[in-house]
Amino acid sequence: MSYIKNYIIIFSIFLTFLFAGISSSIYFDDIEFEMIANGFANKSYIHIHGDEETARMLLKEHIKKNKGRAFFIKSTEREVALGPTKVDPNRIFSRPGSEKALKKFRPKWNQNKLEILLDRLDQARKMFLINIFPSKGGLLIALHNNFRGYNVNMELGNSQLYSIKKDQNPRDFILCTSLEDYKKLENGPYNIVLQNKFYDNNNGSLSWAAMNYGVRYINIESRLGWLSQQRKMLYFVENELSVQ
Ligand SMILES: [Zn+2]
Repeated sequence: MSYIKNYIIIFSIFLTFLFAGISSSIYFDDIEFEMIANGFANKSYIHIHGDEETARMLLKEHIKKNKGRAFFIKSTEREVALGPTKVDPNRIFSRPGSEKALKKFRPKWNQNKLEILLDRLDQARKMFLINIFPSKGGLLIALHNNFRGYNVNMELGNSQLYSIKKDQNPRDFILCTSLEDYKKLENGPYNIVLQNKFYDNNNGSLSWAAMNYGVRYINIESRLGWLSQQRKMLYFVENELSVQ
């Protein structure tokens, strides 16, 4: 029997090497993301704002030690080139959001050209979401940093439930779209909000697309530069939800 055991051990080492740290590119229309895969887990991570360096550093170290797939936007800036303009890549996950994002830095459009680009984005979005979403019951974790005063209090009006902790900075918080996940996380040490009511006319952020497709989504938001705080928040989420 021992040779079978040895064979299994060698085969699992082979699999670990095969699926550890595989890097490839995927696209949302013109926007390129690097994907790093580490083994198999029903879990995806995304870093979508190129100027949020703390979140990028954390996710790079995290995906080396944890199973799943991590997606990194290939940019060091917040806005990225798309068609004849630039957009916030976290505002194009719905058609109304995309229209607003495309007009932000280019207010005047030929209506036909705008509609053609929006149709193109509808298709590209579907493909991109198929690529990044985990399968049914899986979890998508987005990592963000803030540096302009954005904080949890600005999300309370859009939230169905929330738990604010007195000893926590309001700029560090967790946003989730699943009531079950919220219940597991609300009694932890961190600020948390639940947003699980879908609005058609949403702002086009990834959380709405995840909600629309029934994917569990968690956003871990911290102040830029507060790496150890964001790391603790991510470990807390991983430990409480333990998605395999
Ligand atoms: Zn962000």
